[in-house]
Amino acid sequence: MFFALAIISGALAFAETYHSRPRTSRRGAFAPSSGLQITLGRPNSPKKFPIRFQHFKPWFLCKNISTNLNMIGQIIDGKAIAEVLRAEIKDQVSKLKEETGKVPGLAVILVGGRTDSATYVRMKKKACEECGIASFGYEYSETVTQDELQSLIRELNDRADIHGILVQLPLPQHIDEHAVLNTVDKSKDVDGLHPLNVASLCSTSTHVGNTKLNWNDFTQIPFHIACTPQGCIELLDRSGIQIQGKNAVVIGRSNLVGLPLAMLLMHRNATVTIVHSRTLNAPELVSRADIVLAAVGRPEIVKGEWLKPGCVVIDVGINSKHDPTTTRGYKLVGDVDFAEAKEVASLITPVPGGVGPMTIAMLLRNTLNQCRRS
Ligand code: NAP
Repeated sequence: MFFALAIISGALAFAETYHSRPRTSRRGAFAPSSGLQITLGRPNSPKKFPIRFQHFKPWFLCKNISTNLNMIGQIIDGKAIAEVLRAEIKDQVSKLKEETGKVPGLAVILVGGRTDSATYVRMKKKACEECGIASFGYEYSETVTQDELQSLIRELNDRADIHGILVQLPLPQHIDEHAVLNTVDKSKDVDGLHPLNVASLCSTSTHVGNTKLNWNDFTQIPFHIACTPQGCIELLDRSGIQIQGKNAVVIGRSNLVGLPLAMLLMHRNATVTIVHSRTLNAPELVSRADIVLAAVGRPEIVKGEWLKPGCVVIDVGINSKHDPTTTRGYKLVGDVDFAEAKEVASLITPVPGGVGPMTIAMLLRNTLNQCRRS
């Protein structure tokens, strides 16, 4: 009897191990809900034993197998997740209006004739309208003076109907960008780029005044956090990825993305490595990461062979790449070679349709939060 049971449990253990091997044939987009399943086999089972030992474990111990190795190339659908977020924000905006009469307001300042900046501003205004957030547009020609810009910002700082001020970057060469961002009242800096907001994020303290910082819920953090990094963490959370205890490698250290992203991951108890242009052994460092987050601005620089099998890849990069097969003559690609990486990573964001839509959703959320606090 004992031997029969041992043989049956051994066979079941082997079957489950076989079932959990890396596969390249499984594809699919994630359902955008907070309770996302990330396993195709047994759900939410952290890896505890090396695969070879699983062959000899009774089946009831084999529940604790890797969540990453039993699937390869799943897509994190940022567009769908952002849509859910925007619907949540729309609900919350309408509740706030009903209960308090307050309507969140966002001022967007655009300088010059860059078509990419104009497109981003249009998208932001449209997203505001859809969620019931009032948007106020201010457009200036390339010749605007530093004084004109800063005076406008001071006026907006004093207005009670405006809760967020966004200056679309980059600004023309003759404008001191730092001074402009510094002029925005830090409580209205929904882009999270004001030096005082950055300083708060980079502080390792657990409190601001008497408020204990809850890094598991950014809406409870009493200062503004940059939108794109916040969006990356939200993507991980909503895809069921545990951050605590993981090795995370952030490629890029800009004020806009890399640096705040690394800080957020650290606050969420990941062990964080930052790779930049002077890093000597980038592929080696990346190969140790459970989570790779690329914000470089170099098309497809991160190759599939750099990645640890089963890792999670968040690709922030948006780059245009020559492509004569398209009518525009180019296509958008990320910093990660998607075709190669999806054969190795368990989960990966596409470009476009990954991080991009989350950035706008986080801008709306920051504006709503500020309106609540005002
Ligand atoms: P950035 O200010 O140019 O910073 C790029 C970072 O990458 C720098 O820290 C740089 O290192 C590092 N880097 C450059 N070459 C490298 C190399 N060969 N190896 C390792 N690191 C290297 O760019 P960013 O504003 O952070 O944006 C990065 C990318 O994200 C861009 O493609 C941008 O379009 C995209 N983006 C997307 C969103 C979105 O919503 N999806 C939002 C913002 C940005 P050094 O510091 O040593 O120079």
